[in-house]
Amino acid sequence: MNDPSAEIAAAAAALRAGRLVGMPTETVYGLAANALDARAVLAIFAAKGRPSFDPLIVHVADAEQAWAVARPSARARLLAQQCWPGPLTLVLPRLPAIPDVVTSGLDTVGVRCPDHPLALALIRAAGLPLAAPSANRFGRISPTTAAHVREQLADAVAVVLDGGPCRIGIESTVLLPDPAPIILRPGGLTREALEAILGEPVAVADRAARDASLALPAPGLLASHYAPVIPLTLKDLGQPWPEGEGLAYLSWRGEGLPAGAGRLEILSQRGDLAEAAAGLFAAMRRLDACGARAMVAESVPNVALGLGINDRLRRAAGLG
Ligand code: AMP
Ligand code: MG
Repeated sequence: MNDPSAEIAAAAAALRAGRLVGMPTETVYGLAANALDARAVLAIFAAKGRPSFDPLIVHVADAEQAWAVARPSARARLLAQQCWPGPLTLVLPRLPAIPDVVTSGLDTVGVRCPDHPLALALIRAAGLPLAAPSANRFGRISPTTAAHVREQLADAVAVVLDGGPCRIGIESTVLLPDPAPIILRPGGLTREALEAILGEPVAVADRAARDASLALPAPGLLASHYAPVIPLTLKDLGQPWPEGEGLAYLSWRGEGLPAGAGRLEILSQRGDLAEAAAGLFAAMRRLDACGARAMVAESVPNVALGLGINDRLRRAAGLG
């Protein structure tokens, strides 16, 4: 089936029937279900092996659809107007339309309008808000192509819509806008951009504050995430690279690498954080599958998209 509108119609019908769909977005691919159908949402948790205490993000086609499931504040309205469609998830008080399973029982819900024509067309065709976490097995590397989704979740989905490689490549920024704006997860929209729009400082949650915002039964449980199968260690930018048999290297700009480092991925030779984010997860997957016994990654400058990249690298290394 190559007619995109027929594919979208089929995917929308599957969603209305309570099935799961692989959905491209500008951040990563999502595993989507009807957010208003508790049974369909439970199938997401089952397919991913995701623990029930990790809440899902609800994807909408516009702000009006968001305000049917979440109560906006003045800040939320401003951010939705300026940043949507785009890689910003707003955590807001939830309305009763959203079942408990979506929010892990929290009284807030994360909502976002994705900036991808296929995602928007799918949400509109289904006529539903879509709950969608990243379309990977829980704790593993997020998918940035349709093939990545099929590798891990082919049996769980009715269809995977193929939107090509994701433009941004890391997940959305998750923001709690009130009472004072705080980033719960750095991602595709930068803190700098949020501060410029809001005209006030935006904090970034540390590990403890992030855990406190979720219904986590045991703090620290989610320390390992976005993880390759082989062990990953992280080195600071500017520190020397370790050398050894069977190591694979994930480098920021390709500097200072050991002579003869064979298994190697460079995120951005020209030092472009957007290019690095776009290629990050695919590079990790290639190194994971290259036969090395372990991977060494290098942190990137901790500004703009670098916050989100470093967050993913730290959690892939099991450092929270
Ligand atoms: P994923 O869709 O796999 O990128 O994960 C969604 C993430 O969004 C969760 O792991 C939380 O970090 C965050 N999130 C979603 N809903 C909420 C909420 N109601 N409160 C706080 N964080 C949330
Ligand atoms: Mg995820």
